[in-house]
Amino acid sequence: MNKTLHCSCAAHTELIACKLAPGLKGLHCTSCDGHMLMLEDYRVWRSTAPTQPAAAATATAEDNSARHCPACTRLMQRYRVGSTPDFRVDRCAACQAVWFAGGEWQALLATGMGTRLDEILTDAWQRQVQAEELRKGREAALRQRHGAAAMDELARIRQWLHAQPERDELLALLRADW
Ligand SMILES: [Zn+2]
Repeated sequence: MNKTLHCSCAAHTELIACKLAPGLKGLHCTSCDGHMLMLEDYRVWRSTAPTQPAAAATATAEDNSARHCPACTRLMQRYRVGSTPDFRVDRCAACQAVWFAGGEWQALLATGMGTRLDEILTDAWQRQVQAEELRKGREAALRQRHGAAAMDELARIRQWLHAQPERDELLALLRADW
């Protein structure tokens, strides 16, 4: 990829070569601070980089507007890294390129997710993020309805119950108000 590429941000700044990590080259927009990474380069780097422990992704400000691929101008597809915060990376399937908005690549690296990009770009990962978000939504709704104190107490009882070898019997007793 030798032709000059321009960022799809408002400034349309020419992307310049940069280093995303030791041994990993990418492109950088000095106007919006975004980074572009070719998956081919990433995979070569990934095969030599040590696996880092996973941690929850941290926040960066999210711009929700659709992004066009700097190389082919097609709309990029958005992939979620995690549900809280809502943090996404954009991929162009045609060019096998990924775009990181300002600070996102650094956040991925900082949380040990930098080596898991191929996993993030799978349907399985995307479904998992969605399921986690649904679970959190349900939890928030229950807390709203019953109060945080009641839900905390319920969680404590559930945890205790799960640890009991005769939990079904205990639960039946509770229901029957022995
Ligand atoms: Zn493209």
